[in-house]
Amino acid sequence: MKKISYLTLGIICSAASMSAPALAATTVIDCGKLLDVKTGVWRDNVSVTIQNDTIVSIAPMKSQASHIDLRAYSCLPGLIDMHVHLSDDPKPQVEELRNTLTSDAADYAYRSIKLAERTLLAGFTTVRDLGAADGLNVSMKRAIDAGSIIGPRMFTAGKAIGTTGGHADPSNGLSHAMRVAMGKPGAENGVINGVDSAREAVRSRYQEGADLIKITATAGVLSQASSGQNTQFTDEELTSIVKTAKDYGFRVAAHAHGNEGIKRAVRAGVDSIEHGTYMDDEAIALFKKHGAWYVPTISAGKFVAAKAKIPDYFSPVVQPKAAAIGPLIQSTFARAYKAGVNIAFGTDAGVFPHGENAKEFTYMVEAGMPPLAAIRSATLGAAELLNQSARLGSIENNFAADIIAVKGDPLKEIGSLEKVEFVMKNGVVYKTPISK
Ligand SMILES: [Zn+2]
Repeated sequence: MKKISYLTLGIICSAASMSAPALAATTVIDCGKLLDVKTGVWRDNVSVTIQNDTIVSIAPMKSQASHIDLRAYSCLPGLIDMHVHLSDDPKPQVEELRNTLTSDAADYAYRSIKLAERTLLAGFTTVRDLGAADGLNVSMKRAIDAGSIIGPRMFTAGKAIGTTGGHADPSNGLSHAMRVAMGKPGAENGVINGVDSAREAVRSRYQEGADLIKITATAGVLSQASSGQNTQFTDEELTSIVKTAKDYGFRVAAHAHGNEGIKRAVRAGVDSIEHGTYMDDEAIALFKKHGAWYVPTISAGKFVAAKAKIPDYFSPVVQPKAAAIGPLIQSTFARAYKAGVNIAFGTDAGVFPHGENAKEFTYMVEAGMPPLAAIRSATLGAAELLNQSARLGSIENNFAADIIAVKGDPLKEIGSLEKVEFVMKNGVVYKTPISK
């Protein structure tokens, strides 16, 4: 592992020999500017006091040598990405196939350590990981919580739930002989058929240690199947999933590109639609009626649209889907935002390189969303969708000490969020301009 030193409330801890870092009782950060995301107003010259992992006061600055000096910076709440896959990294599909045939879960796990670290250092102190095989995201969350590796606070879906042959069926696209050899995946592996196995798949996620449920309500771009948008669950299956999820206190995120699948999922009561590419006005009205959230993932759309132009990057089945669906998401986002749909920031990082999550802000602003609204979608909005509004998404008393800082004013120049220079998560400093 690359050896990096982290300033931990004055204690330097090394990533190579790291256990849970010891916390000093009190830390103070002096912020030149601090964004109150609730009022949308910058407060000038404030000192934020942190005890262990919690913010305990925000007061006019009385700077002292022992404080963390961010007087030349703008402080914001730690950012939240509602759609990542921390155990995936983009690569040409032929390489992915080779990995499927030759790699063990542990290989993926070790490769993923740097992806989690990169995400945190880009200013994303919290993520929702929407699907990984072999329980990798659940184990990664445990490793981060234990201080064994460095990464964002994670809320995980465990294995995504799909239907036979659908997006999230791990046997999809393999030869008959391979499918026979691996055995038909069932509810335990996130593949359902009918209401009983739908219920069992949700309960398996509970057993797996997931925090929420992810379903693939329609086909997807990167799976080896002909459609990118067909409907993949019956109404009865969706109802079974949502009802069971509620019994266990889970929220439900639904990947969906096609219009019919989006509508079925929203009517069934899912909490968020991911991608949402082909939503029409009726679907938009359903979002508003049911209070569902839209997580756009414009970044992933742009990335796959660009890669679709490179010969052999995708398989012949996937290439036309990437070329057709990828370029549409930004304009879908523009329509949904204009119509007043609840938007939570999400990128689908893992489809494109981790650490580039903040580019999504620029794409949102390009599509007509004001910078403050874009920042709120990655703070207040995301925290609400996570059911964490009392602890995450704002810098205020009794909130988790998740604070980032940038040079400049992101309300005027949204791209400044791509250059985060200070990152604190739970009161621990992981990146600071001062220790350079
Ligand atoms: Zn995804």
